[in-house]
Amino acid sequence: MQETKSTCCYCGVGCGVIIESEGDRIVGVRGDPDHPANFGRLCTKGSTLHLTARHDLRALYPEMRLEKHEPRQRVSWDDALDHAVQHFAQTIREHGPDSVGFYISGQLLTEDYYVFNKLAKGLIGTNNIDTNSRLCMSSAVAGYKATLGADAPPACYEDIDHAQCLFIAGSNTAYAHPIVFRRIEDARKNNPDLKLIVVDPRRTDTAQSADLFLPIQPGTDVALFNGMLHVMLWEGLVDMDYVRAHTEGFDALKETVREYTPKLVADICGVPEADIVTAARWFGTGPTLSMYCQGLNQSSSGTDKNAALINLHLATGQIGKPGAGPFSLTGQPNAMGGREVGGMANLLSAHRNLADPQHRAEIATFWGVEQVPDKPGKSAVEMFDAVKNGEIKALWIACTNPAQSMPDLGSVHEALANVPFLVVQDAYRNIDTARYADVLLPATTWGEKEGTVTNSERRITHVVPAVAAPGETRPDWQIMVDFARRLGFMLEKGYEALQLFPYEAPEAIFNEHRETTRGRDLDITGLSYAMLDSQGPQQWPLPEGAMQGQARLYADGVFPQPGGKAKFVSAKYRAVAEKTDARFPFHLTTGRMRDQWHGMSRTGTVPQLFNHVEEPMLAMNADDMARRQLQNGDLVKVSSRRGNLMLRVKESDEVMPAQAYIPMHWGGQFMNGAGVNALTLSNFDPVSKQPELKHAAIKVEKAELP
Ligand code: SF4
Repeated sequence: MQETKSTCCYCGVGCGVIIESEGDRIVGVRGDPDHPANFGRLCTKGSTLHLTARHDLRALYPEMRLEKHEPRQRVSWDDALDHAVQHFAQTIREHGPDSVGFYISGQLLTEDYYVFNKLAKGLIGTNNIDTNSRLCMSSAVAGYKATLGADAPPACYEDIDHAQCLFIAGSNTAYAHPIVFRRIEDARKNNPDLKLIVVDPRRTDTAQSADLFLPIQPGTDVALFNGMLHVMLWEGLVDMDYVRAHTEGFDALKETVREYTPKLVADICGVPEADIVTAARWFGTGPTLSMYCQGLNQSSSGTDKNAALINLHLATGQIGKPGAGPFSLTGQPNAMGGREVGGMANLLSAHRNLADPQHRAEIATFWGVEQVPDKPGKSAVEMFDAVKNGEIKALWIACTNPAQSMPDLGSVHEALANVPFLVVQDAYRNIDTARYADVLLPATTWGEKEGTVTNSERRITHVVPAVAAPGETRPDWQIMVDFARRLGFMLEKGYEALQLFPYEAPEAIFNEHRETTRGRDLDITGLSYAMLDSQGPQQWPLPEGAMQGQARLYADGVFPQPGGKAKFVSAKYRAVAEKTDARFPFHLTTGRMRDQWHGMSRTGTVPQLFNHVEEPMLAMNADDMARRQLQNGDLVKVSSRRGNLMLRVKESDEVMPAQAYIPMHWGGQFMNGAGVNALTLSNFDPVSKQPELKHAAIKVEKAELP
């Protein structure tokens, strides 16, 4: 039996695991007692990871087809890559670099992400590269940047132990980040005075354990946060010394929140005035640690929601101190790493902005290319729209399943069915997206790859393979390097491609990425694979000469904004993008189950993970069910303006009147292609471009069976 340290490949908690292997088989997994994210604990998903290490659903060798109507055939790597190169090169030559796009994933390792980004923006010359992190964290990124000046979560897990108030908004932490929730439970046991406030339209397991639960109407978070600030101002809970010394824009914000009286906010949010006042008092007294996730992010006002919450921390001076700060919980295992290397349409390496000419020039010089194009790339929703309208003619999708995870799936399937050329690079061949692929490239996955991941608290872990790559699978970075070198020759940039992609191992990519961070907010020039191996996972920043990373940011009250002061954002409440009406009277909310992960390509293969919830269901309030003469277990047709699906209805006191809930996981192979995103809409936040996956207006009818 061999043991290899790694991390769990599911959520952004980033728990350390020890993989047990025999030869080329992973046979067990247990928590790594030395990893600072989890100290040996694992949740149900993490502790069954080894059961997902099976090969029957894997893509194990390259496949391709020459014509759309043909089935794909097994081919060699050379044939598959040459075929992909020919199509991409021809498309670029005939229609320009913006006629191709790359859609990648927060589940790739940082080194994979770096190579993809450099290929698109450095070699090809298009910013059409985006990621499923757009669906997950881009509002948190935009919120941090607008207020604090950089995409850097300032707090850490240890702050849970120092807080006197935990403010959880839009996060069912007990299910989505279970090991963080275990830490919260421990902190509450050790400190009976610790207050837990939960803000969520649904009485989730997390909400049920709260000292104060605010079941707000979907999408009304900004009104609540503004109302809390209104109360804090009245009650003298604002730290004016901190505000004057370290922030800008407070007068405008004060003017904005003047109208958000507890009475008005109670009307908008549907919660008692007294509870809004109590929440403001507990938060304002602190120290308060806010933890938040998709309920704030997956919203057409996601940036404002994030900023309005960060306003509360700045106004009360609760940031950069033990137990205090805004702390976005990252959904995917390496969404943070992807942001670090600029793997999104609007970013460049080391938290640089594509829109900034100086940042573009810095990266162009660093890479040794003439320029990084200034034309904004397509974000996730825009990219699939561009595929649908023919603007993007060759698409490369890696390590993600947009045929299940994108909103308004009908439109996405139409795009995938009609794109002239599609490459899918994935470890799994059973994902919905793969059926549209003209070329399918088999990638290695958890337990088989080397590279780094960064978790929610900015902590980087070096992971190494526990077993050999099965079949003909290859690491994602290596596939892209091979493609880039071949594409370079086809585009008559062969020498440039060899210069840009000289890597023979992921360490060389990490070292190059590290250099891009020199002098930046996330400076990791003091890190190396060797240091991570000898001293364990480290938090950034960790500049050259530092002995360890930084647990929390902004302790000195200096922010990476011009002038060093944080900025208040004055945001007014905006309603959800799609209102309910007589035809579609229910607010649909979506969320995660405790034992499933994303589209279930892994967790769906482990029978015991269905013990918690066996099948997809629509959860509804008992009164709403009675009014529609629905019984528990009845089959219902759920429809939105975009599509419909059939599933069973279940009575739930977690769901408020006029609302309904469907878990996000089922779709594809489990629901004949019709998951919850058949119902959702693609409207997105104007700044972060993150779509409103959390809410849609629906109707529910008893299904007429043929
Ligand atoms: Fe994996 Fe997240 Fe569970 Fe930790 S909490 S074991 S990272 S799924």
